[in-house]
Amino acid sequence: MSALTTMTLSERAVDFIADDELMLCLSLGPADPGRVREIIAKALTRTALSVDETAELVRADSPALIQEIFAAARSLKEAVYGNRIVLFAPLYVGNHCVNDCAYCAFRRSNDQTVRRTLSSKEVRRQVEALENVGHKRLILVFGEHPRYDAACIARTVREVYSVRAGHGEIRRVNINAAPLDHEGYRLVKAAGIGTYQIFQETYHHETYRRMHPPSTRKGNYLYRLDGLSRAFEAGCDDVGIGALFGLYDWRFETLALVAHALHLQERYGVGPHTISFPRVRPAVGTRLDSRWSVSDERFQRVIAILRLAVPYTGLILTARETAKVRREALRMGVSQIDAGSRIEIGGYTEVGNAQAIEREQFTLGDVRRLDEVMQELLSDGYVPSFCTACYRLGRTGEHFMEVAVPGHVKRFCSPNALLTLMEYLVDYASPATRATGEKRIAEELARLPEGKARQNIATRLDRIRGSGDRDFYF
Ligand code: SAM
Ligand code: SF4
Repeated sequence: MSALTTMTLSERAVDFIADDELMLCLSLGPADPGRVREIIAKALTRTALSVDETAELVRADSPALIQEIFAAARSLKEAVYGNRIVLFAPLYVGNHCVNDCAYCAFRRSNDQTVRRTLSSKEVRRQVEALENVGHKRLILVFGEHPRYDAACIARTVREVYSVRAGHGEIRRVNINAAPLDHEGYRLVKAAGIGTYQIFQETYHHETYRRMHPPSTRKGNYLYRLDGLSRAFEAGCDDVGIGALFGLYDWRFETLALVAHALHLQERYGVGPHTISFPRVRPAVGTRLDSRWSVSDERFQRVIAILRLAVPYTGLILTARETAKVRREALRMGVSQIDAGSRIEIGGYTEVGNAQAIEREQFTLGDVRRLDEVMQELLSDGYVPSFCTACYRLGRTGEHFMEVAVPGHVKRFCSPNALLTLMEYLVDYASPATRATGEKRIAEELARLPEGKARQNIATRLDRIRGSGDRDFYF
């Protein structure tokens, strides 16, 4: 077992979250409808919003203004991302943890949790199970512990990429784990990771102290806040931020997420690739007061406001939420979801269909199988995508901004989504999903202008249908 690393900060590390300033923005009274409409109009030109502008949207709480924000978020989502939804699955690798986060079942003082770390053989078995239902993108999740150092994470990533089951392969591995030092980020980058995610949990300093005992590693607010700045300095320019909603005021956390995105954008020329906004879920051996719990309506506001404030950042919504909440959130601006998720360690092969609560970090709200989620997405008019092309062609980080360039989605994302969808339909779908999916693909193709580009896509789709050829992308 290796020791945990020293806690060196990035060059020019700074605590850029000023609680007082954010509180001041929120205390200005009800929003001015005229100003809210100006800000909506600015967002619709795909320009990122400032913290002050975001605060105006957060303070807009008349039903009419909220509906205008929702409508704008839906239309911006459609304009930037089209009807694609990217799918992934979480893979929990180990739940030993040196921290003591009040909300998490993995915290060290919780003696009700069954502790376990997957061996490399067990990792392979989980990955095979995920490939066998059609997944191509995973996020690996770890507690914070000396046994999950950067070398262990890198080893696990390589192991995952090496697993093949039939036509199955994992083409992108993202990480959600403790903040690393510079050397650690270099190690995991060399293993070929996609996005490195670190959630600040709460940006509110006093609440952060209460949730994370100062004597623990995670108790160091600045070290965590600075975690992705170190990633950038070490050459990882594909990062994800997040806040755990329900620990403190949702309005504060929303502004702080925007402040974090702007900080990265200003300092490194690239914003975060993704933002996550999980809501706290019940967890074994854990009781939180419900004072800050976020209603479904406010949760949709968080999503719509983030969509408008950071138009080019992917928004991730996980299976912590119920199928019903997820369906609505997709319309509002979410671009990535997990599906068929199990978060018990070993859960993809060992626990059957029920959730084994003593082995989970928290309980899930949506435990439908991937195929059921695919069926619903297709029936609702989405194109579920397993595409990994941009990351594999180096179109991440600053290149990710190419999404901003008119035509990128049309030239690359939409065709690639159809090709990966066809792989799913041919290799993994139930007959009903296959039929719905084929119909969706035909409709999407028919919408493209006639010509060489459309013909190219149609030819590749036929090759996937009629042969063993896979993994085409533009
Ligand atoms: N241990 C690492 C860390 O804390 O950064 C990595 C991952 S932790 C297993 C993943 C995320 O789960 C945490 O960042 C937190 O936001 C979320 N989480 C923890 N407890 C939760 C709960 N009860 N409900 C919902 N999400 C929770
Ligand atoms: Fe450990 Fe992460 Fe859970 Fe905190 S949230 S107790 S660091 S696994």
